[in-house]
Amino acid sequence: MPDLAPLKEKFGRYCVFGAPAAGFTTYKAGGAAEALVEPSSVDEFAWLAGWCGANKVPLTVLGQGSNVLVSDKGLPGVTALTGRLASLEEAGGVITARAGALWDDLARFSVEKGLAGLEKTSGIPGSVGGAVRMNAGAFGQEAFDRLAAVEALDSDGCLVRLRKAEIPHGYRRTEGLGRLIILSASFEFLPGDPAVLLQDRSCVLASREVKQPLDLPSAGSVFKRPPGDYASRLIDAAGLKGLRVGGAAVSEKHAGFIVNSGGATASDIYALIGEVRARVKAHSGVDLELEQILLGEF
Ligand SMILES: Cc1cc2nc3c(=O)[nH]c(=O)nc-3n(C[C@H](O)[C@H](O)[C@H](O)COP(=O)(O)OP(=O)(O)OC[C@H]3O[C@@H](n4cnc5c(N)ncnc54)[C@H](O)[C@@H]3O)c2cc1C
Repeated sequence: MPDLAPLKEKFGRYCVFGAPAAGFTTYKAGGAAEALVEPSSVDEFAWLAGWCGANKVPLTVLGQGSNVLVSDKGLPGVTALTGRLASLEEAGGVITARAGALWDDLARFSVEKGLAGLEKTSGIPGSVGGAVRMNAGAFGQEAFDRLAAVEALDSDGCLVRLRKAEIPHGYRRTEGLGRLIILSASFEFLPGDPAVLLQDRSCVLASREVKQPLDLPSAGSVFKRPPGDYASRLIDAAGLKGLRVGGAAVSEKHAGFIVNSGGATASDIYALIGEVRARVKAHSGVDLELEQILLGEF
């Protein structure tokens, strides 16, 4: 592995070596990022992409770390967070959001402007970049419903602009974005009544409070919804609520969530994911597909 010291020279206190994943993921588990960097501009991201490419250093881009499980062995190379690249702008009914903006800030902003189509995705605790990459969604709406275009850097640090039609996507799935650094995304909306949209947003946020274990670290739903069913229903039907491996447990409140109930390692969580899959398969014959992204070596 090449010398990572130039990163410290470039990013100063926004470059930390050996940063534990507990600090940048919502599972609050896993090993350390070899170098955790927080660029603050497109130029800094371009520099970083170029530097990593030229030095053959792996680069992982994360927003809020709310859909990933980082291996206990850690993340080699550079992990770049987008949180300092965050803004929202509206013009003519189109909102342009930089990748590190919180998805829920975008949802709230659109509601306040009377722009309809993403209000039901309120409360998803990720970034705009992460939500676009995952095509995150809830209550029948998803990021790509209103997405118009994405601006990103390729692995050479060159700027690319992709229209929605150029990005293959589906339920919690996109193709090609994983190789890019998403810098911003623009969204086109339907006209809506701010009062009605606000009401929808409030209902969705209240429903999340009631149904989800928001008091414990997790990364949301572990598995994708299988056709015609719900992963949580299948897990519950197999009697797995409360099943534990070490500090990891299937949530008693929402069987689709695995929570870190205290001191869980990534290996605990990973082993529990495997156990749940095997037991659901044995109980109902359904092969659950992982929604969360495994980073590092498992
Ligand atoms: C309590 C809770 C509730 C949740 N509810 C929902 C829900 O209702 N619906 C839903 O879909 N999800 C839900 N999630 C999961 C998660 O919040 C979403 O998938 C979210 O969109 C992930 O965004 P992030 O910024 O955290 O992405 P990260 O976890 O940081 O990254 C996810 C993936 O996107 C990539 N990525 C992130 N940013 C960029 C970028 N700028 N450029 C390129 N690639 C990038 C990463 O490399 C990684 O592969 C929930 C999670 C939690 C903890």
